[in-house]
Amino acid sequence: MSEIKKCEECGADSEYRVEGSTEGFFCTQCDWALVTTRISEIAQDVTKYKMYLLSADTGNKEQVKALSEFANLNFLQARKLTEKERALIFEGEALEVDKARSVFNQLSIEYEIEPKFPY
Ligand SMILES: [Zn+2]
Repeated sequence: MSEIKKCEECGADSEYRVEGSTEGFFCTQCDWALVTTRISEIAQDVTKYKMYLLSADTGNKEQVKALSEFANLNFLQARKLTEKERALIFEGEALEVDKARSVFNQLSIEYEIEPKFPY
């Protein structure tokens, strides 16, 4: 960091530090700090989301394979999942749901997330 910021409270020099999940400028004299969050909101979300399968094509190998990966099932079990009505694919944290969502979107698998996924 070449840029040295002055404290906006007392005018003293601040220093650049990383503290846990935040990083930014901390005043060397007082409590002032200008910080940003290093870890994105989604990574800190510890809500358990449930992902339900609404529609997938039993004969579509790509879809069944993706489902088997996220549901942690073998291919045959995953194919059975596609025959059920609103089957629970998995329950997981936001990052995992986000990953599954992009794969499912790509493969045109229809799903539902509970509770509402805010990202
Ligand atoms: Zn200060």
